[in-house]
Amino acid sequence: MVFSSAISLLHHNERIPREEIEKYISKGIIAHLRKQGVLKESDTLSHITCQECNECLCEVESFDGGVRAYCETYNSFYDLPESYSQPSYKFDTNGFLSLLKEQFDIKGSTEKISTNFFNIGYLSTDHTHIFFSFDDDQNNHSQDIDRILGSNGKALIVVPFSASQYTYTGNRVRPVSLDSVGKFTSRAISWDKEEFEYIVESTFRSVEFTLHGELKHNGVILRDYASGTNQYAFLKTLFDSFGRTVTNETLFDNAKKTVPNFRYTSPSSFAEKTKSNICNKDKETKDIVEKIIVPASAAGSKKGYRMTNPQA
Ligand SMILES: [Zn+2]
Repeated sequence: MVFSSAISLLHHNERIPREEIEKYISKGIIAHLRKQGVLKESDTLSHITCQECNECLCEVESFDGGVRAYCETYNSFYDLPESYSQPSYKFDTNGFLSLLKEQFDIKGSTEKISTNFFNIGYLSTDHTHIFFSFDDDQNNHSQDIDRILGSNGKALIVVPFSASQYTYTGNRVRPVSLDSVGKFTSRAISWDKEEFEYIVESTFRSVEFTLHGELKHNGVILRDYASGTNQYAFLKTLFDSFGRTVTNETLFDNAKKTVPNFRYTSPSSFAEKTKSNICNKDKETKDIVEKIIVPASAAGSKKGYRMTNPQA
């Protein structure tokens, strides 16, 4: 079972017999989740959400023939699988959210807004608020989101299913599937911090490179170039891969295809000279542009550049 489905299953079942959970999640992962405080041993049979009417809270009890629960709505007992008398686990939703916050440096306290919806904090670098929703329908949450975001806030909503299933539409909000930022290995959760940062950066860009060749920051034009120039080709390639490292070779190849009378023969000399040419303006502009186009290394320590939102 993939990471997001497992978390969703755990959350939606108050009490899960050990035997049951081992069908879906490896023992290594279960041990890991217990160690992290996300799964806790459940002491008694206690209560479950009714499997008959889906509404009442049923007390589970043992009797001679096995295990049963009492439904208040239908005023009757019904049998439960034998596994309900066996050792079981309980999912600690807050424990899981704390773990998630720790991985991605999410600050602030966690606030439960409704049954399946949490405001889990914010990123300190900008006005990005982070929510966690176990529901794919968030019509009920849009007012809460708007209230928390205020006039210039933005939000990522982490969800334990595919992001395309999330119904909210709005340009300040983006759903992120748990599966795009984490996965199960054989005995742990492997969190992808780099991908998370990439999602944050690329979703809410303060930098733009328009088709007309304008490099803008927060709507202000810093530089502008006609298409067919080295600078235009260089900036367009970086912008198309916003947030990712682009090697000097790729920058060079793309420019060669689109720039008439292209003169460079060396990828590194093309990239370095074009970059410094773009940065070469008054000090104020230079300072910002140098934070937008940063030197970076790709896999195999290949040199290149990356376009980012300049950090204050
Ligand atoms: Zn019931």
